[in-house]
Amino acid sequence: MTATDQDVTRAETLYGVYRAHLDTCPRRHIGILADCTEGARLLSAVHAARLATGRRQ
Ligand SMILES: [Zn+2]
Repeated sequence: MTATDQDVTRAETLYGVYRAHLDTCPRRHIGILADCTEGARLLSAVHAARLATGRRQ
């Protein structure tokens, strides 16, 4: 499977959305105390998009 520029752009865009969410959302997002379902949803979308690019980070 080869990553396309579109895949990479999508992953970067989703990560930007996630970071913007972290900047504005007062809830916890890391560890066992995480309580933000929207943040978890965004992060899993970032991971899925990155997997599609074949990158680890
Ligand atoms: Zn959040």
